[in-house]
Amino acid sequence: MAVERGIRNNGAPTTPRATGAGTATDARPQVRPATEGWQQKLGPDGRPVLQFAEPKRGKPPVHLADLTPEQRTARVIELGLPGFRAKQLSTHYFTHCTTDPARMTDLPAAQRDELVAGMLPPLLTEVRRLRTDNGDTIKFLWKLHDGALVESVLMRYPGRITLCVSSQAGCGMNCPFCATGQAGLTRNMSTAEIVDQVVQANAAIAAGELGGKKRGETTPERVSNIVFMGMGEPLANYNRVMDAVRTMVAPQPHGLGMSARHITVSTVGLVPAIEKLAAERIPVTFALSLHAPDDELRDELIPVNSRWKVDEALDAARAYFDATGRRVSIEYALIKDMNDHAWRADLLAKKLTERGRGWVHVNPIPLNPTPGSIWTSSEPAVMREFVRRLEAAGIPTTLRDTRGKEIDGACGQLAAAE
Ligand code: SAH
Repeated sequence: MAVERGIRNNGAPTTPRATGAGTATDARPQVRPATEGWQQKLGPDGRPVLQFAEPKRGKPPVHLADLTPEQRTARVIELGLPGFRAKQLSTHYFTHCTTDPARMTDLPAAQRDELVAGMLPPLLTEVRRLRTDNGDTIKFLWKLHDGALVESVLMRYPGRITLCVSSQAGCGMNCPFCATGQAGLTRNMSTAEIVDQVVQANAAIAAGELGGKKRGETTPERVSNIVFMGMGEPLANYNRVMDAVRTMVAPQPHGLGMSARHITVSTVGLVPAIEKLAAERIPVTFALSLHAPDDELRDELIPVNSRWKVDEALDAARAYFDATGRRVSIEYALIKDMNDHAWRADLLAKKLTERGRGWVHVNPIPLNPTPGSIWTSSEPAVMREFVRRLEAAGIPTTLRDTRGKEIDGACGQLAAAE
């Protein structure tokens, strides 16, 4: 996942597969992706396995946040209670961030437990909560009803509070630098499991647990921005992720009342799903995890590139901009001697500019590194040069910083969409 360390070196000696001395314009080695300390699952064709279908598992209980407002009313009636109680429950859940019957004093005491049990079953059980020293970042580890583990990370920035959410337990995209992919896909998260991460984070904020608040500030605070950069590939769990987004943007008390523009959906580049997303006309921010502008390297870094090549993914990203008017983000984790060569910055700039101007910005971010492994962050001077070349080509570029290293809470990319 985003928030776990990337690749762990289990102590085996590392042998970077460096080839040649690089190109004439860039006299640095080319390190090729290779896993260390774990084996990437390969298919009969010798390529990394991609899992789109989830293994069969028991479904989590149905929850208010899985349902439309009409379905909520119908379900409350099914429970033998008056339909208007659904709206009261929604207010408790989305606005007051509570599932505690004792706090629902506007509901008849005799019905509270039954309503909560039927409509607000517990979905996420807290396993661990880690905080940075200054308290402005909290990482949550949650257990789902079937024992699957997922994480979310809450981060305060000046003027906004961002939550990085998971959309799947595990991930089937098998990227060699990402910790989540190592165990493959456990299952898709339900709509309510996705939404509940936000409600739980809002509850933590309301309880005063996120540090860094301005002194004297009294207005209640909530998560203002969401990035789908936790565990999982959101577009491989398309319907549930979109239902979660609809609930996030639905006005209170039917949803969280958030702005679609403050929600970022990040993908490895599932082109048909990107096209579908563009057609939804929900103006979420779209991020493409590119990490290499050339198919030769991207085939190895992002195995799904074997299905949809760099140019197809970039065309889909550009089409997303055309459909929504929303500037697209390109995510680019800078990995030492692997994808950080100056010629790659130039090639990236060329490919983006070929598709027009003003439609895209690039977010390079240092790889969340594993000391002593080939999966190391680029040197600062190399990062600066990479950014300089993109900017010289007229591409807006922001080098991102990582957050929460001390709590193992940053691959850095968490904040990248910001
Ligand atoms: N599957 C989606 C979203 C989850 S990952 C996607 O790939 O976009 C969110 C971001 O974290 C992606 O850009 C991903 O490439 C990046 N990432 C994963 N492992 C990382 C690491 N070790 N260091 C830096 N970024 C990483």
